[in-house]
Amino acid sequence: MSGSEPLLRVEGLEKYYESESDFIDRLLGRQKKVKAVDGVSFEIEAGETLGLVGESGCGKSSIGRSILQLREPTAGSVYFKGEDITAFSDRELRDLRKEMQIIFQNPQSSLNPRLTVNDIIGEALDIHGIEGGVSRDARIKELLDRVGLNASHANRYPHEFSGGQLQRIGIARALAVDPDFIVCDEPVSALDVSVQAQILNLLEDLQDELGIAYLFIAHDLSVVEHIADEIAVMYLGKMAEIGTPEELFAPPQHPYTEALLSAIPEPDPLWEGDRILLEGSVPSPIDPPSGCKFHTRCPRVIPPSDYEFEQAEWRAVMSLRHRAREEDIAVETFDAGESALMGALREELDLPSTLSDPEAEEVVQEALRLVADEEFEHAERVLDETFDTPCSTDEPVLRQTDAGRVACHLFDPAYEAGPTEGAAPDDGTAPGSAASGDD
Ligand code: SF4
Repeated sequence: MSGSEPLLRVEGLEKYYESESDFIDRLLGRQKKVKAVDGVSFEIEAGETLGLVGESGCGKSSIGRSILQLREPTAGSVYFKGEDITAFSDRELRDLRKEMQIIFQNPQSSLNPRLTVNDIIGEALDIHGIEGGVSRDARIKELLDRVGLNASHANRYPHEFSGGQLQRIGIARALAVDPDFIVCDEPVSALDVSVQAQILNLLEDLQDELGIAYLFIAHDLSVVEHIADEIAVMYLGKMAEIGTPEELFAPPQHPYTEALLSAIPEPDPLWEGDRILLEGSVPSPIDPPSGCKFHTRCPRVIPPSDYEFEQAEWRAVMSLRHRAREEDIAVETFDAGESALMGALREELDLPSTLSDPEAEEVVQEALRLVADEEFEHAERVLDETFDTPCSTDEPVLRQTDAGRVACHLFDPAYEAGPTEGAAPDDGTAPGSAASGDD
């Protein structure tokens, strides 16, 4: 990225929604916010692509729509060609739509079934007062040709086309106004794999010819690997890691990126690790975990400095804590007395028969007894309060490394020697502050 003003600069973007909390909570003013986007910053240069990747519900689409001002951001700024468009009037925003467009995930539902292709593409020209009469028809034919369709398609209706052709029409509609920037919101997720490659190639060719910048949203790293100049990985509304594809793929730094990459059916040849299965699902953005939002699923949570854990032991203890939180241990299926039940639980949880640290062993035994009595919440509390890790208390911030920027304590010198009480990031940003995690 150059030192001059980029085409798009997003600073501390937040998008919160009201949750559907129950009547009593609303009455008492305790309604919680869904933090879909929680302080995100990035830049996109003219003619370049930023791939935005993460599991469903991580805030990717909210970012795309907030940039386009289709949804009003809760906080933060969006600079387009140097101007903060969050302060634009309705009229200014209407004019801006000529420069910023969107391609939707599902072409079937995003195209009006009652309009011909001619009307669908022509509508965009009409709204912005671009081209009329003969030149309007010529422009529509030129756009169809550009996206790999032909002029005879202009008088047909959406139901007469395949999914890939419909997405080409969606792309032609976005191109109609000659935009400089397009949000591609999962544009190939609903398509067959063979068609996906064609649409990706088309978007790349259009970028080369027309110099358009893309924010390319996907839930699969392999989709953006070849099209993106930079890739940003999102988790629960926060940026986990950002870098070029080379930086991100060889090897990934953030444990979440590592897990996403290992989940690709035919991983990149540069990837030499094993498949990493993340436990559980993405937590609710209404009540996200404290500290690092990924700590409830992270396979590399930093162990507490007060106890001597071997890596496998610590992972098993974290798994016990996670399953206690989720109440995901069917105690009643173990038909045995207390000591046999303990043994069965340890086997089920991959816990060695005795931990190497006797003090840690005592705590784990207490937690197991609570689990056996189905006192899950109490068991989780015992583990949480005893095995203190910075991952569950301090929010990591994005830091520059030799291979991109990453928000993980494993890459923070303050935590190199293990967790230290009250350790703060060296950039002076207080853990857990609103600005953390985004710059
Ligand atoms: S900060 Fe801790 S929990 Fe978060 S990704 Fe890094 S190691 Fe995992």
